[in-house]
Amino acid sequence: MPTEPDFAGARHVFRFAPSPNGRLHLGHALSALLNADLAKASGGRLLLRLEDIDTARCTPALVETMLEDLAWLGIPFEAPVRLQSRHMGDYERALEALRGAGLVYPAFGTRGETRRIASLFQEREGRPWPRDPDGALLYPGLDKDLAPAERERRIASGEPHAWRLDMAAALGRVSEPLAFEEWGQGAPVPVPAEPSLWGDVVLARADTPTSYHLAVTLDDALQGVTDVVRGADLLPSTSVHRLLQALLGLPVPRYRHHRLILADDGLKLSKSRGDTALAELRVAGRSPADIRRMVGLSGHGEEP
Ligand code: GLU
Repeated sequence: MPTEPDFAGARHVFRFAPSPNGRLHLGHALSALLNADLAKASGGRLLLRLEDIDTARCTPALVETMLEDLAWLGIPFEAPVRLQSRHMGDYERALEALRGAGLVYPAFGTRGETRRIASLFQEREGRPWPRDPDGALLYPGLDKDLAPAERERRIASGEPHAWRLDMAAALGRVSEPLAFEEWGQGAPVPVPAEPSLWGDVVLARADTPTSYHLAVTLDDALQGVTDVVRGADLLPSTSVHRLLQALLGLPVPRYRHHRLILADDGLKLSKSRGDTALAELRVAGRSPADIRRMVGLSGHGEEP
């Protein structure tokens, strides 16, 4: 059995796509190095995309620090780097296409309203209101059927709203069950997509004309990414991305969701924890080779 997936066919395109809303940690290093190793092993391309749509949290200073950390690791990303904040027009056009197809609606409900509906439901039905794979309560979607004139009136009056995917309508547009291919080490495994677990996901916010799901799916297509290699925490999100690909007529890359690096207490690493930040490890005298070892990558193209 091969230790690495089959790289036959057209040139492979990999990408590392962190959000510059904090410092890079060892989890990012694993992702970036694994993408670099796989790009090298396949003779493919390696892109860097900074997912900075949240312009309040993703500051230019954090973008700079992130680029410095990556340069120090010595990863040969192609230039130019794509900054999502510079491509809002691309996401607006995709959202407009979905709006035109009647698949998104303006959602005016607040989190507090969702919580109230969920607790009323629990009281009456004796069972919990459903949650998405990230643990958030599903959006009740009571405003899905508002008359167009009422929607326009509320938008024109400045009422805060997000644009949500009408999941039921979207699923009605796809003819076959959706799936994607998960490539670990060796043969691909088909994974059925289960976008309905997410309910009416947010595709754009009033202050940001996109969301993670929309921007990541569109960019992977626009950049010709063939291999999405990212942490296992994003595996459930791939179902939403697969649905968006079907709705927008986008190509489907293959996926590899790699193990996560956990902190000593067993929790997921976060950007606010200093102990595993690359910048601190660098100052403490660790070398890029040490980082490779610390994330469990010994040779090239290997993931134990
Ligand atoms: N920007 C996302 C994050 O930092 C990752 C996106 C992806 O790799 O698909 O969590």
